[in-house]
Amino acid sequence: MKTSCPVLETPQKISTNSFNIHILAGYIENIILIEYNHALLLLDSGCINDVSRIEFYVQQTLGRSMQDIKLVAVTHMHPDHAGGATCLRKKYGIPIAAHPDTDRWYAGPGGALQQLLDCYMATSVARRNHRRLQRIKYQRKLNPDYLINDGDSMPFFPDWKALYVPGHTMHDTVFYNPADQILYIADLICDVKGGYQLPLPILFKDKMSYSFDKLGKTNAKTIIRAHGELIHPDNCEELFDFMKQLLKIPDTDFVKRIILMSIYSPEMKRYNRQDF
Ligand SMILES: [Zn+2]
Repeated sequence: MKTSCPVLETPQKISTNSFNIHILAGYIENIILIEYNHALLLLDSGCINDVSRIEFYVQQTLGRSMQDIKLVAVTHMHPDHAGGATCLRKKYGIPIAAHPDTDRWYAGPGGALQQLLDCYMATSVARRNHRRLQRIKYQRKLNPDYLINDGDSMPFFPDWKALYVPGHTMHDTVFYNPADQILYIADLICDVKGGYQLPLPILFKDKMSYSFDKLGKTNAKTIIRAHGELIHPDNCEELFDFMKQLLKIPDTDFVKRIILMSIYSPEMKRYNRQDF
């Protein structure tokens, strides 16, 4: 999630020898749809009300069938990333891939409360972005069909690899295509007035620091973000080192308030018991 979310106004397209990446403006985030001749791959599902946007783009713009989407790979459980996934599976039988710990995030009464708060915060973003207010509550258990761990190849799309990068949540996983050096990092570099900003919240700063180190080593040449324009870093390691330095800046009162609304997942208790 993010507290202000520049999204792309018009779809963008990146073409490689093997696929086209379509970056669509969703409700409060970008939606990443990868088009192969034989299939489509969705990286995150957007909010639940983005399902109709995805349907329109796939069917009307690409002239493809929704059943061509062979997989939705989810980075983390926040409403603007996982919101539409179970709806897409229910309607079209599209399987879901996610990290094994994903369903711990909103488990139990604490998780239920956290999901409500996250939907509330996402709705605040929509209001700030002058979006029509819509109900964005969604199923809080993902029940992934495929569990993806760090370094795993994506089911059906082995050219994409999963990278486990906790920090924003405890199960964040991003997706990297080493052959084309393209990285989808979801929330991990946000955009505020054109500047790079940390995701909100960061609940596990020590983990985030290691995760930025890992991302720096990918040598990505194209970075796709859920909130912000594409980044073409000259030096990937330096970019993520800059993000690491941001972790040292003391939290503002605003950030502290967001963190206070983000501590109810049972994963916080597990972390504090040092079960990791
Ligand atoms: Zn998020």
